[in-house]
Amino acid sequence: MALTSGKQILEEAKKQGYAVGAYNVNNMEQIQAVVSAARATQSPVIIQTSIGALKYSDCTYLEYLIKAAIAKNQDIPIAVHLDHGNSLDFVVRAIELGFSSVMIDGSLMEDGKTASTYEYNVRITRSVVEYAHARGVSVEGEIGTIGGSEDSVGSEKISLTDPEEAKKFIDDTGVDFLAIAIGTSHGAYKFKGSINLAFDVLENIKNIIDIPIVLHGASSVPVELVSEINKHGGKMSSGATGIPTSSIQKAIKLGVSKINVDTDSRLAITATVRRILMEHPDKFDPRDYLGPARTALTNLIITKMQDFKTAGHAKDYVSKSLDDMKKLY
Ligand SMILES: [Zn+2]
Repeated sequence: MALTSGKQILEEAKKQGYAVGAYNVNNMEQIQAVVSAARATQSPVIIQTSIGALKYSDCTYLEYLIKAAIAKNQDIPIAVHLDHGNSLDFVVRAIELGFSSVMIDGSLMEDGKTASTYEYNVRITRSVVEYAHARGVSVEGEIGTIGGSEDSVGSEKISLTDPEEAKKFIDDTGVDFLAIAIGTSHGAYKFKGSINLAFDVLENIKNIIDIPIVLHGASSVPVELVSEINKHGGKMSSGATGIPTSSIQKAIKLGVSKINVDTDSRLAITATVRRILMEHPDKFDPRDYLGPARTALTNLIITKMQDFKTAGHAKDYVSKSLDDMKKLY
């Protein structure tokens, strides 16, 4: 049984003090890279897709690609998670596609941009929790707003999570894990000035809540990938900056259990494709550049699994079925 609830994967991680990466995918090579890396490092893993990625693939194509990855990796705990769900309707759709975990981001209105009220957030999150838990599916909520923009989701401004409000939100909604805002930001262009994560806020949150904490917008934006892209005809500006691995590891020590990874994967793929097409202008078989891009992404994810200390934990526990999870709610 490889399809695993996000709740089970993250509660195990929280117990042992490591974090699990949630890797965004939108095509076959990305999915293969995620599960190859999980297999190579024996890591539990979360395969994650945005609404944009599902729509891009007409939903069904991604559904079956992910099902193939699960079928071939029955001995690794894999959660399939919807990133930034914006309505109960879309959550229902994701659960019908076989997702074992969903995020409802009620910190923003349905447009994915405008900040909502606390009451709106509780109302929509509560409705998703009721629907999902009745099917054994776990739910991630968000309180506070993460800055930046990715896949047309994101707010202009960051507003840090208030620890007391986070605690109340969990009581009011029953979410299984919670995305918080401590100064991270979506995308490759995160910060105007220097990076300043509010570790004190994280610590305060950790001290008063007891569900797993999720970090969005925490890509590293490795300089070597940005310069590889620019060396081969790309034009990413020098404003592309990320969160250093040491800060991520500090956040894990302070209680973060799920880390979303999307931008770094995009950079790894683009850097490889650009380099190969530039170095070999005669090539025109997509496998000649998508194959090496898949390898580069696999290696990037292997490093993340080691950095997040996920490696080696795939056999720590037996995955519960969603039916088992249903009974626990
Ligand atoms: Zn996010």
